[in-house]
Order: sequence, then C-alpha cells, then structure tokens
Amino acid sequence: MNQYTMNLPARADVMRRMRESGRFIAAALPFHYPHALLRACGFHPMEIWGPPHVTAILDDEHFQEYACSIVRNATQFLKTDLSGQVQAILIPHTCDSLQGMASVLQGFAKTAPVLTLYLPRARRDSDLEFAYAELTQLAHRLSAISGVTPTDAELHAALDLEDQAMAACRTVMANRRHYAVSDRELFAVLRSREYLPPDEFLGLVKGLPLRDAPDPRPGVFLSGIVPEPMSVFDLLNDNGVIVVGDDLACGSRRIYQAFSDVDPMRRLARQMLSMAPEPTISPAVADRNAHILERLATTGARGLLIYDVKFCEPEAFYVPLLEKAAKAAGIACMHLEVELEQHLPDQIQTRIAAFLEVLR
Ligand code: SF4
Repeated sequence: MNQYTMNLPARADVMRRMRESGRFIAAALPFHYPHALLRACGFHPMEIWGPPHVTAILDDEHFQEYACSIVRNATQFLKTDLSGQVQAILIPHTCDSLQGMASVLQGFAKTAPVLTLYLPRARRDSDLEFAYAELTQLAHRLSAISGVTPTDAELHAALDLEDQAMAACRTVMANRRHYAVSDRELFAVLRSREYLPPDEFLGLVKGLPLRDAPDPRPGVFLSGIVPEPMSVFDLLNDNGVIVVGDDLACGSRRIYQAFSDVDPMRRLARQMLSMAPEPTISPAVADRNAHILERLATTGARGLLIYDVKFCEPEAFYVPLLEKAAKAAGIACMHLEVELEQHLPDQIQTRIAAFLEVLR
C-alpha cells in the first residue's frame, strides 16, 4: 500500500467531521440516489454497502434465507453501529430485497426516519414527470428534517459539483492504464466518493500519480455490485492482470450524464434517468449486452469477470445471456457469487486464478 492510499480519510472520521460542521448525516443504501439533492438539503450522505465486517445475526426473523448479504449486513449495521448516528436513512427501490429492508426498518426497528425513492424503469415523458415528483417529495422530506430548503442556485451549485465528480470518475477509468497505482488503490480512491464530500474527492483524484507509459498488462473488465473484499484486486494484480474497465453498481453504473436546465429539479430528474442499461432498471437483455460488449471493446479487455453478491436476483437474470454474448465475441467470461465477507474464500481465489491463466 503506498503513501497515497494510506492518506485516505476513515469513514468514521469523515462522518464526525461532517456532523461537527453542522451537516445532518444520511445513511444511503445502494445505489441510484441524488447525492447533490441530499447535500443541498443540508445532509452528508454516507453510503452503506454491507459492510463486509458486519456479521448479520439479528434479523433472521424478518428476512428470508435468500436475502442478500448487503441487505442483512446493512440492517444489522444500522441497528447497532450506526444507531443514533444518522438523522435519515435513504433506501432507493433498487430491488425487492431493499424494498423489504425499508419495510422492516419502518415497521420493526427504532431507527432514524426511513426515506424511500422509486425511480421509473422506462424513459417516457411520463417517467420523467414521475421522477420529478419523487425527487421533489424527497426534497420536502429532507428539508423537514434538516430545516434547510435550498434555493435553485444552491441546488444548481450542488449539481455542478457532482457533475465534476462524475466527470473525474469517467476520466480516470477511461485512462486507467496511465495511473501508477494498483487496482486496489485506484478503486479505494474512486469508492471514497461513497463517503467524502465532492470537493475532497476531486482533490484525491487529482492527486493520483501518473505513469510515464501505459500499463501493458492484460486487461480484465469487472462487472457486478461491489468489489468486496477489496483484496480481490490484489488477487487480480498478483496474477498479472489489470482492471481496465468496470460496470460496478458502486462504480461506473452511477456515472450519469450531465444536463443543463433552468429548473434544477428537472435537471436532476433527467440526470437520474440517464444511467446506462443495468440490471436494476430492467433493460432489454439485448440493450444490456450491447452496452457491455461496447465497453469491453472500448477498453480492450480480454476477460469479463462478473462478480456478484450471492442471491442478487436482478443480476442473476442477465448473467446467462451476457456470458453467452461475451463468449461469442471472443471474450473469456466467468461469473462468481460471493457473500460479503472480510476474506475471499480459498475456493473463490482458486477459481479466479484459474480464470486469469487464460487471459495472460
Ligand atoms: S446485491 Fe442485488 S439483491 Fe442485494 S441489495 Fe444489491 S441489487 Fe438488491
């Protein structure tokens, strides 16, 4: 681990600092949500992707056996470690499991207010209107908690900053081979957007060291939900490959298009519906496959590693035909399902190492 990564702030320190600066803390669950709106309404969002170090034991009575470990761990984390630490919990309607989690927290747990957000799957004018109404309603609920109602100019300013953060992510991944950091270091910086204010995040990205010449190692493209444990990147790099592109829910899937509009809420609504075709918005299989194949071609990846959380139903639906399409395009492909844990099981390590053999 180099000096750069060692300087990443700890999530708990950031949360404390934000609270001391007068911000309210919102726990944000995966994964499409309006960062800028929360900030403009006086909140600092802290995202919860599990976390892997939590052992979920409290909620078996409320969840079915096949609830994914993100939902189980996050519920436990909110009820224990984060109890009394956050002023709101935002649970987007990403999947049935998260919808169930929202119901459990609203009905059976004494937590901060649980706010939900449903973004339409289609892209008609009526869907834009629906998204506008949903976001407006969310803004009212946030403002009612924090007492902060942003002006149009303040919301535009927050959106401008978020556009810069997303543009920085896009640039980094498009130029991945030019950065002199390991994959684990690179993704640790990119994922710091989950808990850092955008200006601090932009400072970290700007400080990423560059190489004199592009990294020549064979490239692998990573799809899935969240790369936990992060040691999976060590395994990839130790086996001689580099991650040249991603379609991760915690990564590139949340890089939206930038829009301009005199009405900041409509600008936000248009942006929130501009995500690429990914499983939780139920795109046509052909559209999803075409998007991934185009990304594979652009990045020059030799292999596609689909790294999913076990029991993730939205992802599982698309995997068989995506594997088939990738293989037909001459791209080696492997699908893994993992529990959120602190250590990568030996069996998974062995399978990844065997897969990477064919890429070198
Ligand atoms: S891993 Fe899949 S099932 Fe679990 S919260 Fe994320 S999208 Fe939903």
